[in-house]
Amino acid sequence: MTDKRLIEADATKLDELNRLIKEQPGSDHLAAVTMKQVIIEHGGIDRVGEAVKKLSAGKKILMVTGPTKIVDSHGDRVKEAVLSRLEKEFEVEWFMLSEPDGIVHATPENAAKIQAHFEGADCIVGVGSGTICDLCKYATHYANPDKPLPLIVVQTALSVNAFSDNSSVMLINGVKRTVHSRYVDILIIDLDVVAAAPAEMNVSGYGDLIATWTAPVDWYLGNVLGCGKNFHEAPSDIIRTQCERLLENSSKLKAGDAKVLGELANTLTLSGYAMGFADESSPASGSEHVMSHLIDMTAGKRKTGICYHGTQVAVSGIISSLLWDYLLNEFDPAKVDIENCYPTEEQMKPRVYEAFGWLDDEHHAADECWSDYKKKLATWTANREKFKAFLSRFDAFKNDVKNWVKKPDYIASCMHKAGAPCHYSTLNYPVPAETVRWAINNCHLMRNRFSVIDLLHFTGIWNEEFVDIILERAKALDCGL
Ligand SMILES: [Zn+2]
Repeated sequence: MTDKRLIEADATKLDELNRLIKEQPGSDHLAAVTMKQVIIEHGGIDRVGEAVKKLSAGKKILMVTGPTKIVDSHGDRVKEAVLSRLEKEFEVEWFMLSEPDGIVHATPENAAKIQAHFEGADCIVGVGSGTICDLCKYATHYANPDKPLPLIVVQTALSVNAFSDNSSVMLINGVKRTVHSRYVDILIIDLDVVAAAPAEMNVSGYGDLIATWTAPVDWYLGNVLGCGKNFHEAPSDIIRTQCERLLENSSKLKAGDAKVLGELANTLTLSGYAMGFADESSPASGSEHVMSHLIDMTAGKRKTGICYHGTQVAVSGIISSLLWDYLLNEFDPAKVDIENCYPTEEQMKPRVYEAFGWLDDEHHAADECWSDYKKKLATWTANREKFKAFLSRFDAFKNDVKNWVKKPDYIASCMHKAGAPCHYSTLNYPVPAETVRWAINNCHLMRNRFSVIDLLHFTGIWNEEFVDIILERAKALDCGL
């Protein structure tokens, strides 16, 4: 039974939420989210000085931004507005990161450039979207993991859920890696600022939340099969109802409705907390994210940029929801030949190297993926009894998850109404069909985390023909390639 107090959770009341999570039965393994304050309101940037004083008695502020001009809904320049508020009370150094192509990437090299300005700073104020937030979290954490500099972030777009989690997605040697970092101390979401962000960035945040209908069930499935740990319903319970409402309000989101944007800000922040409570990204990152990660991994080779994270995740979310729909409605446990469900390392290693070997000359990507994939293969092989039990109680499993999934046609129709891109070919950097097919076919080989695709693979269902059938179903929903 879902605790009703969780379903209308307010992201700005974090102490109350931490307490409620601790009260849930079986929540001993869940962690607390240790941010100090989250401000979501109109005119939120007016409180940046007050936020600094809450964290530090010092006077020197390092303000970190990217090069892009950002204006709020009144047409005022946001970075300059934050700067002028800070300068009234503090000594401020404004450090603007830039790269030759105008796009700042979350790389350790850029983090080092930020760290080079830490001398004498009492508090860091990052102003920007996901990349600036990831860089500030990473730079402050790794400069001094035991006592990082106080960090405030002014979030300028509702683009991803990562402002309120304790990790950074970094581009390391061309591969996207989720690296443990830290929480922002105080997060400021000024609704006048995010309302003026490019529509595609806010649609990206809406898209990141499409994972709510696939990632938690992937997480649960892995736990049932002994290939995952620490599943708990509470992290997803705090966002599911609010995500449902966002889907219902998809057309209002497209119209830029202020109330819906406020709800998106709340739900995205809660989705970051969900990962914090779980102490892993599983509540918000399942099969849909891993497809997206593979596409990102090819960007360097294809000499193209990386798409808005959430929009790409949402297109992949349609594919994942079709896979879950297949599992729950067409999968027949009686047809599974258990003896054939356990490929050996000798069989799988060449598959992994074939999938990823072309990404770089030294096969670093393939080595990295194999070292993680073989752990999944080992746990799957060691938990045969759990798989047998799963097959014999498959109807009960279906009943467990029935309220945690949504029909693919419903998700697709909502995304159409929201004006979210529904095809890989219409993302901000169009992804060719060949790359998409490669990513979907091979995504289960990338990491240790179990998903519905692993189950379909081990039971002999997953192959190129099957992926083509799924892509045809996506096409029927005006989605997919
Ligand atoms: Zn995401």
